[in-house]
Amino acid sequence: MEIFGKNVFNQTVMRERLPKSIYKALKKTIDEGLPLEPTIADAVATAMKEWSVENGATHFTHWFQPMTGVTAEKHDSFISPDGDGGVLMEFSGKELIKGEPDASSFPSGGLRATFEARGYTAWDCTSPAFLREEGDVVTLCIPTAFCSYTGEALDKKTPLLRSMETLSTQALRILRLFGNQTATRVMSTVGAEQEYFLIDKSFYLDRLDLMLAGRSLYGAMPPKGQEMEDHYFGSIKERVLSYMKEVNEELWKLGVSAKTQHNEVAPGQFELAPIFETTNVATDHNQMVMEVLKRVAIRHDLVCLMHEKPFAGVNGSGKHNNWSMSSNDGQNLLEPGKTPHDNAQFLTFLMATIKAVDEHAGLLRASCANAGNDHRLGANEAPPAIISVFLGDQLADIIEQMDKGHVKSSTAGVDMEIGVTTLPPLPKDATDRNRTSPFAFTGNKFEFRMVGSSFSIAGPNIIINTIIAQALKEFADRLEKAKDFSAELQKLMQEVAKKHKRVIFNGNNYSDEWVKEAKKRGLLNIPNTPEALQQLITKEAEALFSAHKVFTSKELHSRYEIMMEQYVKTINIEALTMIDMAKHSIMPASMEFAKTVADSIISISTVSTKINVSAQKELLEAVSNSLASMNKNVADLAEAVEKAQAIGDIKKQAVAFREKVFAKMLELRADGDALETIVASSHWPLPTYSEMLFIL
Ligand code: ADP
Ligand code: MG
Repeated sequence: MEIFGKNVFNQTVMRERLPKSIYKALKKTIDEGLPLEPTIADAVATAMKEWSVENGATHFTHWFQPMTGVTAEKHDSFISPDGDGGVLMEFSGKELIKGEPDASSFPSGGLRATFEARGYTAWDCTSPAFLREEGDVVTLCIPTAFCSYTGEALDKKTPLLRSMETLSTQALRILRLFGNQTATRVMSTVGAEQEYFLIDKSFYLDRLDLMLAGRSLYGAMPPKGQEMEDHYFGSIKERVLSYMKEVNEELWKLGVSAKTQHNEVAPGQFELAPIFETTNVATDHNQMVMEVLKRVAIRHDLVCLMHEKPFAGVNGSGKHNNWSMSSNDGQNLLEPGKTPHDNAQFLTFLMATIKAVDEHAGLLRASCANAGNDHRLGANEAPPAIISVFLGDQLADIIEQMDKGHVKSSTAGVDMEIGVTTLPPLPKDATDRNRTSPFAFTGNKFEFRMVGSSFSIAGPNIIINTIIAQALKEFADRLEKAKDFSAELQKLMQEVAKKHKRVIFNGNNYSDEWVKEAKKRGLLNIPNTPEALQQLITKEAEALFSAHKVFTSKELHSRYEIMMEQYVKTINIEALTMIDMAKHSIMPASMEFAKTVADSIISISTVSTKINVSAQKELLEAVSNSLASMNKNVADLAEAVEKAQAIGDIKKQAVAFREKVFAKMLELRADGDALETIVASSHWPLPTYSEMLFIL
């Protein structure tokens, strides 16, 4: 493991290279989240520059995450003229802590008019700087937050840090109530399992839809799909293994602990799981994981598809956001304890999570909404759009009994009193895991499975941190006032169990029965993005986020606008791409094929009119019918797009793209897919699903 963290300006490097006093001050800043002193910044900048230059770097960049969800950067050279015709390698504390990218091309949702385009980036010293190697070019990347000059967040990191702050504050209040005086911070932790598809690069280059939209907009089902389930944990092909080996090495150098890799359910689909870290670092690292997966693929003549649903009829890709909280005195707050006291504390954090998920299911749903993920959530695929919590039978049973007023310990058969009796040991066996639940307790953490594969995990974690902070706040407000802490806690837990057990569901989330049952329980089921995003701008959401200082109402609205616009733009691009492919590739090829068939009928008939050409005629008729239908649907789709584009109100526009444009796209696709099944392979202009999914 010599290479692990080789390209990271981490604690070890800092300890070696910084004067002791500076290192100590910086570490305190990092551990306690304090602002950085300018004198420290200068010393750190110098050490960072020397280390980078020794490792071949010539440039540095402030690396940030604008609201597009991808990462952005502005490169500067270390080199400045020395006045004598030579150059100096320079990098000051000021350049380290603050950058001023011309940010006018990043979406701000109205927060920053273009005439005041300059936002600034500020070093987030809790996420380590790293060197990125691309060919011969080595660049020092400094993770930064991105704000406007009036202090509004223009990125995903700033609100994430704010949400971690409020969670820490509220969780500490609960820990104090349980007598903990040692912890000074609670960090949310995340391990983000990343799913992705790999296809051969030559196929990708022959498909305009994959290049422009990231997913196949046409494509008939292959004779063999995933029904054999022989891909899951199947042996990984040599070509993919050598790709993964290189991905792992690149990530290890960057200090990302890529751990497991296996084939997923769908053919051509894979997964990478890192070891969990604090949410902030995990978020930065997940961005790097996506970048590295894509970059290394090209070197292997592969393309990595990060879209939520690159292939219809085949499982899509998500991200499993494993989430927990740990205190800086070393406890995982979602780990069931061994003593009654520990158990009471565990149950408190568990119940806070359940309450939060039930009360703010709409926000969680919104945090996973985009055009790509609409193909997963609410379609016949994992997970559903209904938010529920899986606890496992034993815990669910305990909560059920709590609601009734007294808990029988299932093993000992005696009444269990919170804080007095110990919970029975909970099984952590993987077989007990429910893989269909959107929010599943997995022994010592929750796994939020709705996140789409292309997402920045910042968004979902901002929501999770904030809603749980709110639940913990309500608990703390009440418990701090209690005369008898244990009695009040018992009462509180019972109330929460009674009120929120409706969100607990241990059964099969994909079943139709669950959809009906969830409706009876009054749980939300929001099928698509334009609807889901409305959850962000309710009065309740505004009050919640401003109370926790995570988003001002202005920031919240700007994010809503940007996400709605992104939805509209995505469907718009997809529709135009479909039209283009129909007109310039599918229809001409099909006409060519039709001509071949017609020619064949004529040639045969000139030899003898007695020869049966009914097959040819039927084929010609089928091709011509599909062509006629396609021709009409192309025109209809173009008209629907034009109408939708003309709508000024973003909500109405998004709904039009969903209901009018998207619906037409499905019809057009049906024509294309019908043609694919009848036109000869020699004439078909696009790589097929069989080729793309099974040739690696
Ligand atoms: P699975 O059976 O789902 O693969 P693992 O134990 O391998 O379960 O964990 C899956 C992911 O959860 C990994 O990325 C792991 O690092 C992460 N994880 C484990 N513990 C925690 C925790 N306390 N907080 C956040 N993530 C965690
Ligand atoms: Mg998992």
